[in-house]
Amino acid sequence: MEMQCRSKREFALKRAEELKERIKDYNDVKDTIPRGMSPFQEEKILEKKKKILSLLNATEEDWNNWKWQMKNRISNVDLLSKIIKLKDSEIEAIKKVEKKFRWAISPYYASLIDDNPLNPVKLQSVPSYCELDTANGLFDPMGEEYTNPAGSITRRYPDRLIINTTNVCAMYCRHCQRRRNIGTLDKHTPKELLKESIEYIKNNPEIRDVLITGGDPLTLSDSALDRLLEEVYSIPTVECIRLGSRTLVTMPQRITDDLINILKKYPPIYLNTHFNHPLEVTKEAKAACDKLADNGIVLGNQAVLLNGVNNDKYVMRLLNHELLKCRVRPYYIFHAKPVAGTTHFNTSIDDGIEIIEYLRGYTSGLAVPTYILNAPGGNGKTPIAPEYVISRGKNTVKIRTWEGKVLEHPNYPTKDIKI
Ligand code: SF4
Repeated sequence: MEMQCRSKREFALKRAEELKERIKDYNDVKDTIPRGMSPFQEEKILEKKKKILSLLNATEEDWNNWKWQMKNRISNVDLLSKIIKLKDSEIEAIKKVEKKFRWAISPYYASLIDDNPLNPVKLQSVPSYCELDTANGLFDPMGEEYTNPAGSITRRYPDRLIINTTNVCAMYCRHCQRRRNIGTLDKHTPKELLKESIEYIKNNPEIRDVLITGGDPLTLSDSALDRLLEEVYSIPTVECIRLGSRTLVTMPQRITDDLINILKKYPPIYLNTHFNHPLEVTKEAKAACDKLADNGIVLGNQAVLLNGVNNDKYVMRLLNHELLKCRVRPYYIFHAKPVAGTTHFNTSIDDGIEIIEYLRGYTSGLAVPTYILNAPGGNGKTPIAPEYVISRGKNTVKIRTWEGKVLEHPNYPTKDIKI
């Protein structure tokens, strides 16, 4: 018996060594990936924040006020070039792009940009020459214009829909897949369209899940948001409300006590946000996530796979680990759609499959989101995953494990339960 136990223990120890080896490559590089919550990065962010505050002649109190952050979004290239290092060619590019596409960066988000010319936060927020290539790609690859049955609704699925509430965001992402809606001027959805949307939901009782998005719905005032949530919540057939907001990433100051008190009135509320890189997971972002999670708001992340930002199996793994520390469940990785002016961010589908391949099994299932390709023409989300089932026989299935072992598993028909 003792002999047997020893050999079992020996087996387990050998296996543990093998498992350790499986993530050695990740452990060797992970500390080289910049993270918003590393002491080194925190210091850099603080320095940049001080510089911005002095340039804007503002105080710490201003910084913590989301209305100040919105009002002082940086959209002037001269000011931006005082905050971050820009080459003459980059300044010229911004001047050209801004004639075509809007840009604005919250002071907070700008404080995350360091001197690396390819800083992932900079790539997502500062316009570049690549955006002028609009010959490739489409303005509405999902055919959203054809999925608007009433008001400001987008409906692509049987039991759920979207209410678009605004075109305003705290920062206009250079990869925005709804770029055509962002337009040139800040505009919240008119009340009449919201009313029509509410009526539509009332008249279609199969709708049980309502996603309030934009733009960014958390750029609405507290009172406007409260009114809308109350109206949706009071429809008896609506079972849950979702909010799609990137403010946790671009302007965490928005998560105020007053906002929490509003959200708490309408459970269950799910908030999906959009972190793309570990640099964005800062102390401030974590505090905002904690506040929401402490108050029962369930948090998920919808990353977009972006060339040069996160199309890397190690960056994505670290991002998901950082998110779990903040109680944000990695929910989706979206394959970037071929939207005109953003196609330089597009990656091959192979990049996405490789990322999932090196998440599944290598880390907790909680850190493994679903990789999604939005089918053309508004035909919905299509999950893409590495192949794990090799073949299916009569009473057997051949599988490939996360480590690449090929094994057979019995696969008998499901029996009726007889009592
Ligand atoms: S926050 Fe969302 S809607 Fe706004 S610009 Fe970014 S991706 Fe587009």
